[in-house]
Amino acid sequence: MATDLAGACAELAGLCPHLADALQRDNGGEGGTRTWHGILVVNADVLHAIVTLGREIPAAAAQAAADLGEKPPARTGARLRQFPRYAERLTLLGRPDTITGAVHRWLALTKRALGLRRPDTTLPHPCPWADTAPENHPGREALVLVGAEGFLRPERGGGLRVEWVAAGRIYCPACGASWSQAEWPLLERILDMATA
Ligand SMILES: [Zn+2]
Repeated sequence: MATDLAGACAELAGLCPHLADALQRDNGGEGGTRTWHGILVVNADVLHAIVTLGREIPAAAAQAAADLGEKPPARTGARLRQFPRYAERLTLLGRPDTITGAVHRWLALTKRALGLRRPDTTLPHPCPWADTAPENHPGREALVLVGAEGFLRPERGGGLRVEWVAAGRIYCPACGASWSQAEWPLLERILDMATA
């Protein structure tokens, strides 16, 4: 879990400068949407990501540092490097870990803004638990297949390329149940039984 978070923080730190680049490029020309590494960049999403990260990362760092009796770092890169340790310390102290969920949310927001996240697909099936445990299930919402995610990889000889990785995860937005690609046959059997 900690290495997961460290990886997400490092990826976010690597993507942040691209947000600034994308915004500058969008505002420098005749406006509208542009492409970035061959991918569509939407200005409003980029701006929203910059504003959200600019507000929430310092606030989260200040809160966690205060909870731990430390002084928060002054720069985004340093804050992101501290987040895995903050999360671990907070968990050890039995305090709520407000960092891990936020980092993954920021990363998803940044990737969407940079065109590095394909849209989710709504599947034509309600969650199997909607019928078997309706008391714990707020509704009969359809299952969602998570869209593929792009990762920036350095190109030999400089530059960057985008590598697309399928998440392979289906989840229920109502109860949070989730199935990895290896578990899809199991999910299919459950759904078949439900409709039989
Ligand atoms: Zn569900």
